[in-house]
Amino acid sequence: MARKPRTELVHGGTRRSQYNEVSEAIFLTQGFVYDTADQARMRFEAAGPDEFIYARYGNPTVAMFEQRIALLEGAEDAFATASGMAAVNGALCSALKAGDHVVAGKALFGSCLYILQEILPRFGVEVDFVDGTDLDAWRAAIRPDTRAVFFESVANPTLDVVDIAGVVEIAHAHGALVMVDNVFATPVFSRAIELGADVVIYSATKHIDGQGRALGGVVLGTKEFIRKTLEPYMKHTGGSLSPFNAWIMLKGLETIDLRVRAQADATLQIAEALRGHEKLGRVLYPGLADHPQKALVDRQTGSGGTVLSLDLKGGQEAAFAFLDALEIVIISNNLGDAKSIATHPATTTHQRLDDALKQELGITPGLVRLSVGLEDVEDLIDDIEQALSRC
Ligand SMILES: *Cc1c(COP(=O)(O)O)cnc(C)c1O
Repeated sequence: MARKPRTELVHGGTRRSQYNEVSEAIFLTQGFVYDTADQARMRFEAAGPDEFIYARYGNPTVAMFEQRIALLEGAEDAFATASGMAAVNGALCSALKAGDHVVAGKALFGSCLYILQEILPRFGVEVDFVDGTDLDAWRAAIRPDTRAVFFESVANPTLDVVDIAGVVEIAHAHGALVMVDNVFATPVFSRAIELGADVVIYSATKHIDGQGRALGGVVLGTKEFIRKTLEPYMKHTGGSLSPFNAWIMLKGLETIDLRVRAQADATLQIAEALRGHEKLGRVLYPGLADHPQKALVDRQTGSGGTVLSLDLKGGQEAAFAFLDALEIVIISNNLGDAKSIATHPATTTHQRLDDALKQELGITPGLVRLSVGLEDVEDLIDDIEQALSRC
């Protein structure tokens, strides 16, 4: 009997030791003892599913996390990484070689942009950037030698949504792998694999931990891609997730559905309460009924997610005054956390983008990104409104 996601999030992937512990054990060990020299030889030759060699290659706690998230996402397999960026770097570098062509959505997290713009070209990979929301732009940019396309399914911080199924159709017609950085969609609302994405990437630092404790990441895909392409690259280059952080992420998955749904409900309420506020130019939230991409959101995730962005009419000065006046919402740069967090992308997360690109992407001086946490939503609305009145 197929179990529902909420059940898999609590029980999926569990491996119990000889003690039959209730809570998943942390196997805080770098390695494993072999009974005989010949057993060591055989394990290096081919390790079975419950046989481990070295924590850089795999570890029981890490394997539990990988299996649980793969069950949630509907992916054949997963590989856990030390951070979201180790996941992005591993997915791209393991799949690409000199001479390959990549097309990427240009609205990217600063570090993803660094890999695509600075690192890959250094090794002979050609990368073209397109407006990810424009399917004609994807069609025009993809070539017979395009090996992969990469994009954030919901762009940070303007929250423009990319049509995953649309890009998949175009990319697959040319045999290109579709790699999706799916952080803003969240694993709870994701249907990326079902929509045809080949590789789905999360920073587990965000909603999966959800409590601001640890870095982590994960790459999901077919067994063939994860074990034949990605795993050899990751295990030999050192980007594996630590067992302790894997345990944090594993326990985070037990509550992620409840947390993210509550956060998304609160985000919609806040977006609705702030719409039309005299201090605000735009309230950007793809879950709003009049958002131009609402139909795509309904098809793709069914939720606008846990982040909204506000564009203050008074520019950077007003944005800073607003941030400084907040009493409950903290100024930081994580998202998906139980604590509500406000960020000024133009001067922090997206500081390294040049001014022309910031303008093109809508990262204006007055833009503030709000990641909505688990506080009482009325308190959050009061806090945001009092801070707006003081800027
Ligand atoms: C945070 C983030 C990353 C990087 O994840 P880390 O865990 O910080 O390395 C990559 N992509 C997106 C969209 C993110 O929000």
